[in-house]
Amino acid sequence: MRYCILASGSNGNAVYIEHGETRILLDAGISGKQLRSRLVENCERDLADLTAVLITHEHDDHIKGLVQVAKHTDGPIYMTEGTQAALPDKARPDDLSRCAIVREDQPFYIGDICVTPFAVSHDAEQPVAYRFDSPDGSLAVVTDLGYVNDHQKTLLQDCDAYVFESNHDVDMLRAGRYPWHLKRRILGDKGHLSNIDAAYALIDILPDKPIDVHLAHLSEDNNHPDLAILTVEQILRDARPVTKETTALHKTSRKAASPIFEMSRARV
Ligand SMILES: [Zn+2]
Ligand SMILES: [Zn+2]
Repeated sequence: MRYCILASGSNGNAVYIEHGETRILLDAGISGKQLRSRLVENCERDLADLTAVLITHEHDDHIKGLVQVAKHTDGPIYMTEGTQAALPDKARPDDLSRCAIVREDQPFYIGDICVTPFAVSHDAEQPVAYRFDSPDGSLAVVTDLGYVNDHQKTLLQDCDAYVFESNHDVDMLRAGRYPWHLKRRILGDKGHLSNIDAAYALIDILPDKPIDVHLAHLSEDNNHPDLAILTVEQILRDARPVTKETTALHKTSRKAASPIFEMSRARV
């Protein structure tokens, strides 16, 4: 399985995942034009090559390019019933019959990738995150959630790679320019994970084998990529001495796509 984080941050999110002939776009939170150019330049794929599109929830930073993507693809567009109902008109695909409904904790197959949606606590109608299991390995993409519960920690065991929210530094957010109601929203149970929240959740989740962890959905105002890495690294290292040898922590960006990461069972 190969994957590429096309964009990640409070202003736009999209991940490309591929195994064999199966080509999935998870979220379309940057413009269709940007999505296409990053797919072509970084993954040598075009929008028309996509087998399916998956959506986590209706916030603009996850659906900004959805209408354009829908125009250039034929495959199903998966989302929860609540997300479909809450899609703003400007993001609603012309042909709603292409929207396929996913249900929490009910895995399904797209080609030979098994996709498991699971509920997250976030201020959207019916948000989910997804885990992808292929014969080569497993990837989980977990963003837009206020906290990580035990059920999610169980579901997230034993992946080979994680795209994991590390949205803000709590001190930067508290001292920053955001209005109080927005700060309260981000810090709340239906907001976003801080760097410290991410680290403590990862302590309970990460397997003792070589893995890649991509710190994701970084806030432009209330975080810094180096600070996110440093905070998570320090907390992980204190709790799990094995982490330093086995866990590769990566930054993500909304401005540029990541390299393509390839996983294979041979690595384990
Ligand atoms: Zn978001
Ligand atoms: Zn959101």
